[in-house]
Amino acid sequence: MNEAAQVSILVVAAGRGTRVGGAQPKQYRPLLGLPLLTRTLMNLAAAAPHAQRRAVIHQDDDESYAAALRALPDGGSGWESPVTGGPTRQQSVRNGLEALAADGLSQHAIVLVHDAARPFPSGELVRRAIESARSHGAAVPGLPLTDTVKQVAPSGRIHGSPDRASLRTVQTPQAFRFDVLLAAHRQAAEAGQYDLTDDAAVVERAGHAVYVFDGEKENVKLTTADDFFRAEARLLSDLADIRCGQGFDVHAFGPGDHVWLGGVQIPHDRGLAGHSDADVLAHAITDAILGALSDGDIGAHFPPSDPKWKGAASSLFLADAIARVKARGGLLAHVDATLICERPKIGPHRDAIRHNLAKIMNIAPARVAVKATTSERLGFTGRGEGIAAMATATLRLPFES
Ligand code: MG
Repeated sequence: MNEAAQVSILVVAAGRGTRVGGAQPKQYRPLLGLPLLTRTLMNLAAAAPHAQRRAVIHQDDDESYAAALRALPDGGSGWESPVTGGPTRQQSVRNGLEALAADGLSQHAIVLVHDAARPFPSGELVRRAIESARSHGAAVPGLPLTDTVKQVAPSGRIHGSPDRASLRTVQTPQAFRFDVLLAAHRQAAEAGQYDLTDDAAVVERAGHAVYVFDGEKENVKLTTADDFFRAEARLLSDLADIRCGQGFDVHAFGPGDHVWLGGVQIPHDRGLAGHSDADVLAHAITDAILGALSDGDIGAHFPPSDPKWKGAASSLFLADAIARVKARGGLLAHVDATLICERPKIGPHRDAIRHNLAKIMNIAPARVAVKATTSERLGFTGRGEGIAAMATATLRLPFES
């Protein structure tokens, strides 16, 4: 096993935390368009690309976890198959550690245990965790207290004012030599104690010294709806490059009995002619997104000269444009599109089209507008020779230059 493989990360994601509201455990709730867990896994992978990585999940969450992995830029390929958690956090970590032991992880490896609900671990924080664990065998990130602390009785009466200089609030990732952490968890379980709320407490209980290294204020744990709101505001502030792109497309009518608009098949007495499925609406939106990215146009990415795209579903082109937005670390905030034709009537299909486009682009239907107009029988659309579509797309990207 090489040096890099001597670090293993366990993400504890087995909790049922619903204090934030809703039936879904909080680690699977969306945080600015991606599940919270996806953001946690993405940032850990970026912080420690060579570490062995594994999550501990609840037995009922296989599908949610699979969806969280699919939302990762690499589809989750760097994450080993998840371990099933137990009834308490402590038992979930123990299950994860036993899985690492069964895999033959070196006793001298460093194991980082991180909470799924902390989506912002930085590379620096993870490096400090690994170094501290190598030096001390057991180390946790901590922050000094800025407020004065009181000990208070249930009656509300203050009983003491501890010296805050010696106090820390602790975070994750908590980092340990594997043999130290595994032995401590086994000892606690043998003693029938299952209610320790962090791994430092498990290791302290075993009599091993645990050290504190500098945590990070930004490494917050999301618990309440307000925490989610603030985290989203912070993520949005990182996407300060707001861009609007426009797209326009025309396809002529030809023989056929349906047209494709926004990926929806609409019966009509004519079809649209084109190399692909001639989905004029999907093409205009794709070009609007590419325009906002300043990344060529649909013809450059999917040349009509390439037989590969003959008859292709245009949802592929749109999904590719979205993948380009994701690869740039951005998000699609809004799409507004207008179809120009005398027939077919768009109104009856408008909502189906909006919902289908939203699904292809993986955004809320409330962020997709589809409008239709005629050209008052003027021009080629007015004469019923084809359909035109125009679209704008608003993107938010990280500000680069
Ligand atoms: Mg076209």
